Amino acid sequence: MWDAASQLVQENNDDPHDLLKKKAQSQVDRNDVLAAATTYEEVGEYSQAIDLLGAGGWDDRLYNLVETYLTEKHEKLIIKCIEYFKKHGKMNYAVETAKKLSNVTTLLQIYLDAQNWEEAFKIGDSFPQYHEQIYLPYGNWLAMNDRYDEAQEYYTKAGRPEDAIKVLKFLASNSVTQNSFKRAACYYQSLSRDIVLQLSEKTNISQTLDKNEQLSLLKTYQIYAKLYYAYDKVYKFVNDPFTMTPPEHLMNTAKFILVYLLNNTNPRKISKTFTLYCLAKISFKLKCFKTCRFAYEKLMQIQLPLEWRDTIDLGAMVVRSKPMTDPEQFLIPCVLCGTVNPFINPKENRCVNCCIPFILSAHSFEVLPLIQFVPLSNISNDECQKLLQSEPALYSTPQNLFNFSELDISNDKPYKPPIFNREQLLQADPQSVFIRKYKCSHVPDEYYIKRDSSANIVMCDNCQQFFYEEEWNYQVLITGRCSFCTIESKIAG
Ligand SMILES: [Zn+2]
Ligand SMILES: [Zn+2]
Repeated sequence: MWDAASQLVQENNDDPHDLLKKKAQSQVDRNDVLAAATTYEEVGEYSQAIDLLGAGGWDDRLYNLVETYLTEKHEKLIIKCIEYFKKHGKMNYAVETAKKLSNVTTLLQIYLDAQNWEEAFKIGDSFPQYHEQIYLPYGNWLAMNDRYDEAQEYYTKAGRPEDAIKVLKFLASNSVTQNSFKRAACYYQSLSRDIVLQLSEKTNISQTLDKNEQLSLLKTYQIYAKLYYAYDKVYKFVNDPFTMTPPEHLMNTAKFILVYLLNNTNPRKISKTFTLYCLAKISFKLKCFKTCRFAYEKLMQIQLPLEWRDTIDLGAMVVRSKPMTDPEQFLIPCVLCGTVNPFINPKENRCVNCCIPFILSAHSFEVLPLIQFVPLSNISNDECQKLLQSEPALYSTPQNLFNFSELDISNDKPYKPPIFNREQLLQADPQSVFIRKYKCSHVPDEYYIKRDSSANIVMCDNCQQFFYEEEWNYQVLITGRCSFCTIESKIAG
């Protein structure tokens, strides 16, 4: 008889609080949750009401409580309600409730938990100090939703390069699995860039082991970027004979991959059989019968797919009736010592006489007339670059700079690039010199000079790869981009 009881309380001017609490308790005992909650609301015992409604899953009723009774001073209660809404998946209620909070950190956390990125970014716009707190979970969320490219960007923004690298590695490996080799190449390029970035942020790497490990990773990623980029063309040639790649480019490309495969372990999914097959077919077409024979001989040593055997046997037989030579235009005069090299040197991509590594165009994989040099050890990067940029009374031609007769050329020792002193650096024509800058004290900048100042060579500003001007311009005209790194580029010259 609650009505009679409350009338009695009123008449005696007593406090109705205790009576109402008893009433609510009896409603709870009768399992009448909604009525009990209403009674608790009347007494101002919101916490009890929230627990009853929340535990019973009465979300609409709970939201009604929030709207009617709660203000920003009820922070703890608001958070309690939000927890219930989140638990029941009522994110819209959670977000609306969160708007009652004045504490930005808590509010942001609720938006992040609710994955309400729009609201979270709004807070980020007004309070830039929260950016990092938003970028990381957003990166995670993007990665969970297979949006790895964007995830990678946000990891970097959040100052979490390790996570960015993890995602990139995953992307690269996935692209390889899907035979999407050109994309894999792009990811390996980004990986090498991130390694340099990571190294440049570590001002004093105490463990040299760590540094060496990173540097060797950098080398691996750089070469993988090139290999997968090259292999994309070979793979397309084998699977689709109507390739757009000119045969000379394709032959150079296959050679570049093959020489690597003959001396190193295969990167995943790069097939020696496909590479040799491509080389054999194309070299025959270009009348490079010596190279063609070499490719067929290597193919015969490999276990071939059944359906290929007859074609390969026939090809190998036909090429034996041809002269065992490659046309002169495919032989490679060494940029340093002038020795005429065979088209393919199975041991390495170097001169057979002086061992200088050949620098290849990142488009056609043709040997470029470029020589890498290093400044004398006591010349800093800054000084070296200043000397190279200054204008002397007279530039020396690259030929004079090198003084070839004095170069220490011997194939017994490991090759060392020519060393330039201050005078040579000063006299070098800046138009003939290329500098690959890494902007990182742990990775030395690389210096290259044209063997012949009239050679038209272009270096991409972004990926710092070299190209013949003609092929660069052709690519940029067609696609507007560097063919290696696919970044928008301008015509040279
Ligand atoms: Zn040489
Ligand atoms: Zn590029």
